[in-house]
Amino acid sequence: MIYQGVLKKMPTENLETVQYYLELGSDFLNMNQLLEKNLELNFVHYQCLSCGLDKEIYRQGFCKSCFFDIPSAGDWIMRPELSTAHLGIADRDLDYEKSVQLQPHIVYLANSSNVKVGVTRKSQIPTRWIDQGAHEALEIVEVPNRYLAGVTEVALKEFVADKTNWRTMLKNEIEDVDLLAWRQKLKAHIPQEALPYFIDNQKETELHFPVNKYPKKPKSLNLVKSQSFQGKLVGIKGQYLIFEDETVFNIRANEGLFVSLSIVSG
Ligand SMILES: [Zn+2]
Repeated sequence: MIYQGVLKKMPTENLETVQYYLELGSDFLNMNQLLEKNLELNFVHYQCLSCGLDKEIYRQGFCKSCFFDIPSAGDWIMRPELSTAHLGIADRDLDYEKSVQLQPHIVYLANSSNVKVGVTRKSQIPTRWIDQGAHEALEIVEVPNRYLAGVTEVALKEFVADKTNWRTMLKNEIEDVDLLAWRQKLKAHIPQEALPYFIDNQKETELHFPVNKYPKKPKSLNLVKSQSFQGKLVGIKGQYLIFEDETVFNIRANEGLFVSLSIVSG
């Protein structure tokens, strides 16, 4: 069987074990069912997720001109504290920005390689945590817009990390941490304007990833450079496919690549 299509972040489902899906063209594959199978991936061409053209991908699945033009790639995506829709001020397209920014957002703690603070729309929970490969996560505040979430994150970053280490996450060199205790500790540092939205009733969410074998020394696959890769799929964590030879392939970082995928055997 050969599937073809443009890579987009895998949709997930938080069941007892996280389920991963890959949409390729008109096909929708449950990737969990491909575990222990030999897969072949080939780079065919680029396909920008916005304009659809065969132009080199710059960031987030977009070519350079789209990345600097379309509303869904504004600076406030990566830096929520720059959000201005709550003031009625446009960055690139106020209607779009209102629709995304003026909805409930969560500031959370997630542990994928270490405890970190992050921001996401409420509708993206637990998707966001799965995408980061967090094995445990906890809400800190639920605020009515992205700006408030952003300023809370900026304040808390002084006291807790805001980055994770993908190698540690993939090697599964993880420790369970008492996130409830962390939340209590951080409460004192939440900005006044966000403090009324503090959450203290939620419990930790635990996530279980479909991984049969963790890599000891993960090597990241550059499919554009190598053009082709073949290997046995032994796990999926975050947005990474993990292969038996310790090659890992981050689907999210490769959005906008038009690929073919074949199941060689198994
Ligand atoms: Zn484009």
